[in-house]
Amino acid sequence: MSLKEESVPMPQQDPSDRVENFDEVPLGYVREAALEEAERCLQCDPAPCIEGCPVGIDIPKFIDQLKREDFQGSINTIKESNNLPAVCGRVCPQEEQCQEVCTLGESFEPVSIGRLERFAADWERDHGSVDNAVEASREGKIAIVGSGPAGLTAASDLRKLGYEVTVFEQFHQSGGVLVYGIPEFRLPNEVVEREVDNLREMGVEIEPNTVVGRLFTVDDLLEGDRVDKYDAVFLGTGAGLPYFLDLPGENLNGIYSANEFLTRVNLMRAFKFPEYDTPVKVGKRVATIGGGNVAMDSARTALRLGADSSIVIYRRSEAQMPARDEEIQHAREEGIDFRLLRNPTRFKGDNGRVEKVECVKMELGEPDESGRPRPIPKEGSEFDIPVDNVIIAIGNSPHPLIPRTTDGLETRDRGTIKANASGRTTREGVWAGGDIVTGAATVIRAMGAGKTAAADIHGWLSSQDGWK
Ligand SMILES: Cc1cc2nc3c(=O)[nH]c(=O)nc-3n(C[C@H](O)[C@H](O)[C@H](O)COP(=O)(O)OP(=O)(O)OC[C@H]3O[C@@H](n4cnc5c(N)ncnc54)[C@H](O)[C@@H]3O)c2cc1C
Ligand code: SF4
Repeated sequence: MSLKEESVPMPQQDPSDRVENFDEVPLGYVREAALEEAERCLQCDPAPCIEGCPVGIDIPKFIDQLKREDFQGSINTIKESNNLPAVCGRVCPQEEQCQEVCTLGESFEPVSIGRLERFAADWERDHGSVDNAVEASREGKIAIVGSGPAGLTAASDLRKLGYEVTVFEQFHQSGGVLVYGIPEFRLPNEVVEREVDNLREMGVEIEPNTVVGRLFTVDDLLEGDRVDKYDAVFLGTGAGLPYFLDLPGENLNGIYSANEFLTRVNLMRAFKFPEYDTPVKVGKRVATIGGGNVAMDSARTALRLGADSSIVIYRRSEAQMPARDEEIQHAREEGIDFRLLRNPTRFKGDNGRVEKVECVKMELGEPDESGRPRPIPKEGSEFDIPVDNVIIAIGNSPHPLIPRTTDGLETRDRGTIKANASGRTTREGVWAGGDIVTGAATVIRAMGAGKTAAADIHGWLSSQDGWK
C-alpha cells in the first residue's frame, strides 16, 4: 500500500452550526479513519516522537497496537506514561512536540498522533474494561494541593506506587484549568470528570471545597496540626491570578478578566442558562485582548453567548501569536475578527460602563528578551473601537496564598515557587510542579512535572536521603 502524504482529516462541526452551541468542535476519528492514519506510521527505531513527548509515551507501540485493532492494548500503552490521554489527545500542542519531530513530517504531513491518542482514549470510554482499584500497600501518606493536571498526575503515580493519597482542591469540581478554563467546545467537562472518577476508583481521596492556606496550612499538613499528618506534600496550585493592563478605565463595568469570564461560563455553567441560574451577559460587540489560547477561548465563547461581533486585539502579528495554529484557524472559521498590531491605551465609558477601547497602531522592531519582535507604538495613531464588553486575556501569575502561609517556601520573580529539576522546593518535604513553578504553560508540561515529583517523593520516602 502506498504511503498517504496527507493525514486523515478530523471531522468537525460546521462553523455556522457550532457558533450556536457549546458542543465539541472536532468530532473524533471513526474506527476506519484511525486505522488509515495509523497505517502512515513508519515505526521508526529509534523513534524521535517519543523524545518529543514530554511524558515519553511509546508512540510507535501504541500506534502499532491500534493498527492491529488491539485497541485495549493501545490505550494501556499510552496509560503507562500518561494518565489523562482523553485530555491530551484534545488539547496538547502536538504540532510543537511529538508531531514536530515525526520522521514522516520531513517529507509529508506528520502522523496525527494526537488524534490517534484521542481515538484510543474514547474507544476505552465506549468499549474498554477499566480495572482501576489499587491497594494502599506502602507506608506513607501524601497530600496533593490542587487538582489540575500536575496534581492529578502526581496523585495517580503515587497511588500506583501504593501510597495513601489525598487531593485538596479549593473548588467544588476537580480538574483545574481543564474544567474552569478550557471551554466545553474544546474539552467537555465530562471527559475530565471521567479521568477524575478513574482516580477515585484507584483509591485516591479527593477533598473539594478546601482552600489550603485558609482552612489549614501546608505546615499543618506536615505537622499534623488541625488535620491528619502527611509525610510529603505536592503543590500543584497553578497560576490562577490574572494580569491586568493597568490602563485608565480598566475598572469600568463590562470589562472582565478572561479568568473570571471563562470560570463563570465553564465552572458555573453559565452556558447552560436558564437551566443553571448563573448567566453571564455579553453585549453585541466584544473585544478580547491577547493572542494566546486563553484569548481564542474567550473570543469564541463570547460568540457562542450571543455577541454579534467578537474581535481579538493583539499587539504583534499572527506569526507571533502564542495560541495553537488549530485554535487560530477555528476562531477565523467562526468569524472572529483579528485586529493585529494594535494595542489598547485606555478604556472609555459612560455611566460607569465601558463603551470604547482606545488603541494605538503598532509596528515590529528588533527581538526582545522573549525572542519575538518588540511591538513599538506608532506615535499619533490612536483610534477608538466601540465595544460593549472587553475580556482581558494577557496571562496569569500564581496566587501568593500558599507561599505566604508556608514556612521556608521561597519564590522567584512573578511569584512562582522555587523548585529544582525533581520538584523539590526550599522547604523539606514539600514538592511543587506545573504552572505554580513555571508560570502559565501547558497541560503536558504540568503532567510531566507531576510525574517527576511523584518519582522523587517515592525515592525520598524510600531512602530518607537528606534534602537538597
Ligand atoms: C483558557 C485556557 C486555555 C488553555 N488551553 C490550553 C491548551 O489548549 N493546551 C495546553 O496544553 N494548555 C492550555 N492551557 C494551559 C494549561 O491549562 C495549564 O498550563 C495547566 O492546566 C496547568 O496545570 P496545573 O496543574 O499546574 O494547574 P491548574 O490547572 O491551574 O490547577 C491548579 C488547581 O489548584 C487549585 N488550587 C489553587 N490554589 C489552591 C489552594 N490554595 N488550595 C486548594 N486548591 C488550590 C485550583 O483551583 C486548580 O484546580 C490553557 C489555560 C487556560 C487558562
Ligand atoms: S516519528 Fe512519526 S513515523 Fe516515526 S514512529 Fe513516531 S509517529 Fe511513527
